[in-house]
Order: sequence, then structure tokens, then C-alpha cells
Amino acid sequence: LLEMNHVKKSFGDLGVIQDISLHVGEGEIVTIIGPSGSGKSTLLRCATMLETMDSGELIYLGEKAAWNDENGNAVYASKPELKKIQQNYGLVFQNFNLFPHYSVLRNVMDAPVAVQKRDKEEARKTAMELLEKMGLVDKADAYPCQLSGGQCQRVAIARALALNPKILFFDEPTSALDPELTGEVLKVIKSLADLHIAMVIVTHEMAFARDISDRVIFVADGVIVEEGTPAQVFASENERTKNFLGRYG
Ligand code: ATP
Ligand code: MG
Repeated sequence: LLEMNHVKKSFGDLGVIQDISLHVGEGEIVTIIGPSGSGKSTLLRCATMLETMDSGELIYLGEKAAWNDENGNAVYASKPELKKIQQNYGLVFQNFNLFPHYSVLRNVMDAPVAVQKRDKEEARKTAMELLEKMGLVDKADAYPCQLSGGQCQRVAIARALALNPKILFFDEPTSALDPELTGEVLKVIKSLADLHIAMVIVTHEMAFARDISDRVIFVADGVIVEEGTPAQVFASENERTKNFLGRYG
């Protein structure tokens, strides 16, 4: 589904991603954990093309979004090709980024109608189904400012799902939330596992990572230190992994 090969990314002199390869299969749930500043968000931003890689390959469903030229510098596919590839994935970030002047319903159905040119009534129906799944039907006509942080994040998840992605990226979806709202969002994310959508989740919630993941990736200093099933990673004898988990777990 997604293949990232030998990704490198620097900001000036700062080598943030040294050489990371990440493969995600259909319906697979991968969590990425690691210390602050280790490059997790940068990796997701490279995967979703919000950031351009310095070098490496990026492939969705066998279609190349980026590859290396003869000098080892990443080159990207043409704009229309990238646009098509982008339809495969969605993103949910820490700070929701809802349109404040749109109702909840309109936030969810806007992109399917405006970007994907779907029929408005059909998009409305899908949006209402998603809001139902998120437990937010009664908020369809509310505005984001009238919602709690947890509700906003659930709207953001519904909005991402409305585009029918094969893979969803989450960058610390609960880190802006009060602890009592974190649980409801994690529960909703967990319920998506049944939809057979692949997910790549950056999180500091270790219990959640352990519970939901098919695979856990521990990143530090821009490299993958360790990767495996939750059972493997959480029982790791690797000093760095143990150290990190000792602080968070
Ligand atoms: P956190 O857990 O705190 O979110 P992270 O693992 O997501 O951390 P990144 O946000 O990927 O870390 O940042 C990795 C490093 O890259 C940091 O040192 C950061 O300061 C630097 N960095 C990130 N984005 C930029 C940018 N646009 N320009 C310059 N430096 C950047
Ligand atoms: Mg981050």
C-alpha cells in the first residue's frame, strides 16, 4: 500500500531523517513512537508530501510519487499524478484544523463535494453516517467553537474518512486534549480498525500503541531503532528502547 524507501531529510545542517524505510500493508496498523524531536512528524509530513524529501522513494499502491535521480536527489511526479496519488490517504493532526465558519456537517462533506466532485446529497448521507459512527449526529449543525476538543478531533477524523482513504495518518491525535477527552478519541480510532483502513499513528500513548498496533516502530535521532510486534518492542532488551519506554510506559 505504502512504501517509503531510504528517506532522508535535513533542515539546513540538521539531519532530521537519516535513512528510514517504512512499508505499510493493506489494513495494517503501525504506530510510531520516539522521543520529542526524533523526526516522527517530519516522517509523516514526508509520507503525505507536506514536506519534500531530500532523497528516497515514495510509492502508493505501486505508483511512484517520488524517486531518486542519478545524483540521489528525490524527484517528484507531476502535479496531476501527485493529485491522484493523494486520494489514497488522509491526515489527522494534533490541532484538528476545522473550518471555524462551517458547520460540523459541512466540514465533513466539503472536500468530497468540492474536491472529489461527489453528488451533494450522497456526500451529505455519507457524512451523516460518519458522524453517527463518531457519536456526533446531534452536533451536525453546531460550529467547531461549540464543541469540546475531543468532539473536534472526532469531526476531523470523520472529515478524513469522508474522502474514503486507504490509509490514514495520525500525528499525535490526542496530544492537544485534556486527559479525560483522550479516551473517547482513542476509542474512535480503535473502532476504525474494523473498517480495514491502514493507519500510521504517531503517539505518546504507550498503552494505546500496545493495544492497537500490528507493528510498533521506535524512532530516535532520525533512524528506526527498533521495529516489531507490540509484544516484541515492549519487551525489548535494547537499551535505548528500554530507556524510552521506562520514561513513558
Ligand atoms: P515531537 O514528539 O515533539 O512532535 P517529532 O519527533 O515529531 O517531535 P519533528 O517535528 O519531526 O520531531 O522534528 C524533528 C527535528 O526537526 C526537530 O529538531 C525540529 O526542530 C526540526 N524541524 C522540524 N521541522 C522543521 C522545519 N520546518 N525547519 C527547521 N527545522 C525543523
Ligand atoms: Mg511531532
